Amino acid sequence: MADNTKTPTEAPTAEVHEFKAEMKQLLHLIIHSLYTHEEIFLRELISNASDALHKIRFRMLTDRDVVDADLEQRIDITLDKNENTLTLVDTGIGMTKEDLLKRIGTVASSGTLEFVQELKKQDGPVDASMIGQFGVGFYSAFMVADTITIDTRHANPDSKGLRWTSDGGGSFTIEETDRKERGTTITLHLKEDKGEFAEEWRARSIIRKYSNFVDFPVFLGEERVNTVDALWHKNKSDITDEQLTEFYKFVSGDHEEPLGHLQLSLEGVVSFKALLFIPKKAPRGLYHEDYRYGVHLYSSKVFIQDDAKNLLPDWCRFVKGVVDTEDLPLNVSREVTQNSPVLSKIRKILTGKILGLLEEWAAGEPEKFATFSKEFGPLFKSGIQMELEHRDQMIELFRFESSIKEKGEWTGFGAYVDRKPSDQDKIYYVLADGRDAALRNPNMEYFKANDIEVLLMTEPVDAFIMPGIPKYKELDLVSIESSDLKLDKKKEGGLRKGEAKKLIERFKDVLGDRVEDVRSSDRLVDSAVTLVTGKAGMDAQMERVMRMMDESFTGSKKVLEVNTAHPLIQNLSALREEAGAEQRIQDAIEQLYEGALLLEGSLENPADFVRRMTSFMEQSTTPG
Ligand code: ADP
Repeated sequence: MADNTKTPTEAPTAEVHEFKAEMKQLLHLIIHSLYTHEEIFLRELISNASDALHKIRFRMLTDRDVVDADLEQRIDITLDKNENTLTLVDTGIGMTKEDLLKRIGTVASSGTLEFVQELKKQDGPVDASMIGQFGVGFYSAFMVADTITIDTRHANPDSKGLRWTSDGGGSFTIEETDRKERGTTITLHLKEDKGEFAEEWRARSIIRKYSNFVDFPVFLGEERVNTVDALWHKNKSDITDEQLTEFYKFVSGDHEEPLGHLQLSLEGVVSFKALLFIPKKAPRGLYHEDYRYGVHLYSSKVFIQDDAKNLLPDWCRFVKGVVDTEDLPLNVSREVTQNSPVLSKIRKILTGKILGLLEEWAAGEPEKFATFSKEFGPLFKSGIQMELEHRDQMIELFRFESSIKEKGEWTGFGAYVDRKPSDQDKIYYVLADGRDAALRNPNMEYFKANDIEVLLMTEPVDAFIMPGIPKYKELDLVSIESSDLKLDKKKEGGLRKGEAKKLIERFKDVLGDRVEDVRSSDRLVDSAVTLVTGKAGMDAQMERVMRMMDESFTGSKKVLEVNTAHPLIQNLSALREEAGAEQRIQDAIEQLYEGALLLEGSLENPADFVRRMTSFMEQSTTPG
């Protein structure tokens, strides 16, 4: 809001404002730590100018009562080698005093603070091209300028001219001016050794490199420098790979090329054009609350918003690019875009197309698909919870590690089914927090011994999605920890039935209601006992995840399975006949049970476990 408290007779004096502490830190870092790619400051300023022009164009769709309604919408850059200045003029919406104080004077998003923290950790020169991903654009100009002046007048008819000045030190000043035209003029007084940015050839090449796709004409002196019109309106065959990459960098702020792209032009129930990209690396903050979505929405070539959320499902939030439709009302507001039927139709189509692209990669470009799974697999998998329509298609694209594959190799349900013997009617999996833990799980022993493949579900998200996927095609998905595994191959070398029964009764007496049941096991080979999921229970990994989220969470009771072919168990059975061995048997049972808890990560207090172990060791190390 403009400050209207002063009367015109008062001579305007510059108010001095202190930057906030974190702002000072940020400026210090920008001035002292960013060296490479410093030319991106110009991209940032042009991008701000373009945003301001989008805003005035949008406002004037419904409201022409603004300052200079007929002014041409454009960006002008002028250079002065003698004065060592670079000046950028836009006829955008301009800034109010509040804008200058709140938006220019402070750090906007938590992302910025994170950026500061990250910069602080790095010692050497920092790559300034990272800057585009954070809300620090304007300040990047302090890499090359020792003083910056902003002259501005907002589009509101009652607005006043304002001047903001700072040398990037601790403070800035704001004063009123008699500026009449709408828009903003930013003047950089370049540092002595940054004179190159006042050279025409240099400025031209920076604009071509970074700002070719800006929606408004950018002039350098008399010459219009940006040349490319909306790329998504062109035919596929008229676009080069270089243009695509350049455009991707422009919309995403990424400095690498994308993993892949999708260009669509549809007419029918809904008409739209789209040019979408999947990045090679997960964008920063992908899982943060204030993550900025990256699909720009246009309505008949008019920019509406740059972070459209409803154009794609949440699991697609890594997608960057542009969607342009003629089917929205021209005066569409952000609120309207939130539940517009047009957008839901587009969203449905785009979701299908993106899945189609992923399917193509999975089938024909395994390396690309592996990169995708590595970077976005968890987010993609989590999408299953909200996605009804494309559920089966998504499940087909889920990837996991496998007990029969090398570390880092991924596989899916379909490939598992192709590999499995035809008489195996289940898909086996284990949830664990890593490959090694999965392979060490005693419940794996039967599967290893019988060469049965087990999918290793080692991403935290797996524990959440698996309960919702009971079957793949006709096959049951079965956790190797579930208690009612019906295993085909029976064990040999176990205790005789009567003996086993008596020993198991002994286990039950000792463990009481700490377990749901004790049974003789078919699945163990090397281990003496294992805990498996009870009737209504959750997998151990799922319980661990629950406990991480809620400390008071207590899991359900487990079933203890006993390997009656194991020498230790056979010893215990024999020991039952000996007088005075009661306590030793009881201690051994306690120890076996707590050892199994320890292995699955749920032994809460190891004190007794360690005490018993010490005593066992004492017995076994007593000489003679
Ligand atoms: P970001 O562009 O990421 O928001 P900046 O620090 O570059 O961060 O800019 C901060 C804010 O200042 C912008 O969001 C905008 O509100 C305002 N601003 C910057 N430049 C201009 C301009 N040329 N015209 C109008 N507003 C501007």
